[in-house]
Amino acid sequence: MPSQVFFGTARQARLEAKETLPAKLDLILEQLHLRDRVDKETVVIKMHTGNNMVYSTIHPVFVRRVVQAIKDGGGKPVVVDVNWDTEGAEKRGYASEVIGCPVYPAAGPDEKYFYEHERPYKSIQSWRVSGLIQDSGFLVNFAHVKGHPSCGFGAALKNLALGCLAGKTRSAMHDAMHYDQYWFPEKCPDKSLLPQIIAACPFDAVVEDKEHLGNLHLHMEQCNQCGRCLKVAPEGSLKIAAVNFHTFQEACAHAVDIVLSTFAPGKAVHLNLATHMTPVCDCFGFTSMPILPDAGVFGSDDIIALDKATLDVIGKTRLIEENLPTSMEIHTREGHPFQQLHGPHKDPYKVIEYGAKLGIGSCEYELVDVLPLEYPERTSMPYIAAH
Ligand code: SF4
Repeated sequence: MPSQVFFGTARQARLEAKETLPAKLDLILEQLHLRDRVDKETVVIKMHTGNNMVYSTIHPVFVRRVVQAIKDGGGKPVVVDVNWDTEGAEKRGYASEVIGCPVYPAAGPDEKYFYEHERPYKSIQSWRVSGLIQDSGFLVNFAHVKGHPSCGFGAALKNLALGCLAGKTRSAMHDAMHYDQYWFPEKCPDKSLLPQIIAACPFDAVVEDKEHLGNLHLHMEQCNQCGRCLKVAPEGSLKIAAVNFHTFQEACAHAVDIVLSTFAPGKAVHLNLATHMTPVCDCFGFTSMPILPDAGVFGSDDIIALDKATLDVIGKTRLIEENLPTSMEIHTREGHPFQQLHGPHKDPYKVIEYGAKLGIGSCEYELVDVLPLEYPERTSMPYIAAH
């Protein structure tokens, strides 16, 4: 049976408060029966509180409504995020006086509060789940949707995958992209070619490996797989291969599986707010122009169905190319808009596929619009001349 994904479009028919996104979020919380499910529970609201001067993360108006619903249901809410984002969160509006509950670092101020979970995956042996996440009874995963330089996009899955793991694991997940070999020095015996290969990349994604001089290192985040470097590198010496990029997404799926395994069945809900979607993650410390039209708010018990539905809705729109940073380029019009932005190997659906394979949720969903758009009928008028 398909999972239900509740959806409130950002578009309004009338200019009335009940048709705006906070009101539609309320309708989604009702559909998810959040109030009925949190009595006496310590509820962690995992969100990205941003960094530095970010202003595109979830507006406190939305957070306050979730906090209030949890309190109405007899739960004890607390907002959590990684330590370097909760530090200074009040400067971005996430103060208890505003949102109605405290904001804590999920793994403690020094990221020393975590639980190890053994699960070998490529270069990762064990995964450190943040203590406050694992020790709580109920999870509200409240994600802001945006682009992401490692995997194309970030929403509910990524909010848990990176945001609920302590620092060492987050680094290990990024490092795992280098597990599969992509530089084959024996195929490039002429080291004088290295500066030319490096210079071929307009995004500084290829550099000399600082730890192994005479070799190349790829910054996957900056690479949009344009292939320029491959035209300079001797054949077979450098690979821009999907496996390296997909590894990050598979690691994210494993992380989410482990995080959700610490909650009893039915003790987690997931929300996506797809507004002011920027090219890169909220941890960059700034907000750039929105690159896609606002889509709306989504909620489900099934995190896989939720991210899939969110991507599908966004995929029906087009990049607002005039809003892109001038340093970025679109070299392919194939695939999802996030993929067009970050390159073909950063297919945002990959994490969903990996997650579904692990049994986290279902790719099959039913999209339930909580307040379908009305198209008010206009009375027919006789022709009126302008002058
Ligand atoms: S494929 Fe393009 S973006 Fe990636 S490293 Fe090569 S030149 Fe740079």
